[in-house]
Amino acid sequence: MMPPITPGAYLKQRRCAALLSVADAAALLPTDPATPEHERVLQLELIEADAQPMTLTTIMALRAVYHFDLEVLGRLEAIAQGQDLPAPSLCGVCGWGTTYDQLYWPALGLCHACYTALAPEDVAARVAERAHPAFRSAAA
Ligand SMILES: [Zn+2]
Repeated sequence: MMPPITPGAYLKQRRCAALLSVADAAALLPTDPATPEHERVLQLELIEADAQPMTLTTIMALRAVYHFDLEVLGRLEAIAQGQDLPAPSLCGVCGWGTTYDQLYWPALGLCHACYTALAPEDVAARVAERAHPAFRSAAA
């Protein structure tokens, strides 16, 4: 089984799904005391690269700018710290995630919103991409 993405990669995927650049998100981030925007950009880049620890204050400030699941973030962090826990199920398009079983998802690796937004052939292509190589060649 592939290792899950890192907490920083998850935050990046959710920021991108919100159609925000790093600069967009940094400009919207409330900081107290006020931090220059270029420093907020740098801090966000470091967090997304897992090169800087996240404080609870930063996590909550980011969550005010774009939505992500705290339970998923916590699970990814616990796994990154070496805990042997099941990886959350993350949508391959938007990164929306759940710590519940993937059986609740309409198609392998796609959340309900992306499943309904994609054309059927794109859903099939996504599912094929995620399939085990042995099944991929059989389906081709
Ligand atoms: Zn999705």
